[in-house]
Amino acid sequence: MNQIEYKIYVDHVIERIEKARLKVDNHLIVKIVAVSKYSTTEAIEALYAIGQRAFGENKVQDLKTKSEALDALPLEWHFIGNLQKNKINQLLALDPSLFQALDTIELAHALQQRLENHNNMQLDALLQINSANEASKSGAAPERAKDLFDQIREECPNINLKGVMSIGAHTDDTKIIQNSFETTRKIYDALDNVTICSMGMSGDFELAIESGSNMVRLGSILFPES
Ligand SMILES: *Cc1c(COP(=O)(O)O)cnc(C)c1O
Repeated sequence: MNQIEYKIYVDHVIERIEKARLKVDNHLIVKIVAVSKYSTTEAIEALYAIGQRAFGENKVQDLKTKSEALDALPLEWHFIGNLQKNKINQLLALDPSLFQALDTIELAHALQQRLENHNNMQLDALLQINSANEASKSGAAPERAKDLFDQIREECPNINLKGVMSIGAHTDDTKIIQNSFETTRKIYDALDNVTICSMGMSGDFELAIESGSNMVRLGSILFPES
């Protein structure tokens, strides 16, 4: 696709987001994080050229390589993958705009310690919730999520919890996927001072928005040639 065709293509994706959000509330703003984990820096630049600013990666090394290569552009980088403790310092050095996959008290404590050591820096984060209770996925169990959220806020002053993140149930059954999103949304609604409910990927973003998401993480659909 040339740039004009690509813009028309991306506009179609944005129209789908628009339709879904208007079903919920015409004041709802849905932020798009373009997940570039399978894409090149050239592909990121092409999406930047038509207006996208927020990008997400799921490996610390890839976040480093791509964010440094594109340092001249005013991009916002999200880290959306599992964070191993031995990669914490490397991630903090990159100063990501949002860490979306905080999922245990152990990781929160380790982050808190390193944040203090890193000039007492602050990190914006989301609690990841395993709303479909799938063994293959990370994330807090839904029954534990609110307590864990409150505990992290209490014990980790350098972590600013902004909300929650969830991956929809891995199934073709729309009802089950919808239930998993609604589980996350209910937890979000019970939290104090939160603004981000990150749910929805290329295959299920409309359902996620209709179930209460205000941030979608889109990979393959925004980078069709990767
Ligand atoms: C890869 C990934 C996405 C994007 O997936 P697509 O199906 O390609 O849109 C979103 N969220 C997380 C956590 C991911 O790892």
